[in-house]
Amino acid sequence: MVDTAKIKGQLEVMLDEVIVELERIAHYDKTTGDWVAKPDGGEVGEADENVEADVVEEWNERRAIVAQLETRFNNIKRALKKIEGGTFGTCEISGEPIEEDRLAANPAARTCKAHMNDEGQLPL
Ligand SMILES: [Zn+2]
Repeated sequence: MVDTAKIKGQLEVMLDEVIVELERIAHYDKTTGDWVAKPDGGEVGEADENVEADVVEEWNERRAIVAQLETRFNNIKRALKKIEGGTFGTCEISGEPIEEDRLAANPAARTCKAHMNDEGQLPL
């Protein structure tokens, strides 16, 4: 039996942590519900090509990090909603219960172990 009260507490801590990380490099668009990477606040106006290439690279990296954090953010929010709705701990692909050790490692997991590699294919 999954202790959802305990997991809810864990998820809330995880959500706070991911929001702190996101707020450092992104801002939340309330209209779309998306996190948008902030442009780098660093030195602007350097015409040096190498600097520009670095800036573009940093920007791409930043967006990749935001995308990862945003997935985590969405998964945590979804897991909290599932607890409210009483569907927590069920694999979104097979409908089977998610293994307890998988939930212990990642309370925001959306699938059982058999389908963990397909989790990325699920709609957001
Ligand atoms: Zn499954």
